[in-house]
Amino acid sequence: MSKVLEEVLAANAVYVSGFDKGDLPMPPGRHFAILTCMDARLDPAKYAGLAEGDAHVIRNAGGRASDDAIRSLVISYKLLGTREWFVIHHTNCGMETFTDDIMRDLLASSLKTATVDAAGWHDSGEGPGSAEGHYIDWLTIKDNARSVVEDVTRIRNHPLVPATIPIYGYIYDVATGELVEVPDASAVGRSR
Ligand SMILES: [Zn+2]
Repeated sequence: MSKVLEEVLAANAVYVSGFDKGDLPMPPGRHFAILTCMDARLDPAKYAGLAEGDAHVIRNAGGRASDDAIRSLVISYKLLGTREWFVIHHTNCGMETFTDDIMRDLLASSLKTATVDAAGWHDSGEGPGSAEGHYIDWLTIKDNARSVVEDVTRIRNHPLVPATIPIYGYIYDVATGELVEVPDASAVGRSR
């Protein structure tokens, strides 16, 4: 068995031994949802004080308002009753380190893990790669305050999102753990 698989199953056994959350209702008890990045340094349960059953946490690379993130948010509100949403990007996001063209070229070269140094990303793995990467919008980030504004704006203007839901825009600082508001995003996200 792989080391990681063994560790995860051992940790789960410990969790199960003290588990007392079996009766929680499905809808989030605190009626809110967070869209945030998958970055391993971010732990929304800790940075936002969540326990099991409290809130929806939707994660992807960058915490971007992709069609699929919006799908989850709409379900979160329409079927499960969340009433406030957060979009939380973060400092030092990996999505700032490449562009669509870079990712597409790396994937066209090989599918192996690329390396990065001061000069940028390099692909040294064996091919073949695939041109499929050209058909994906990787939703990279140039400036994380601007990406929060863009994503809150996209969600705010989406025809399936009611104007009554406030959407708050924040950046998590990986150096301090602090959530810092992006006022322009929260202004766009204000409920009406
Ligand atoms: Zn990130």
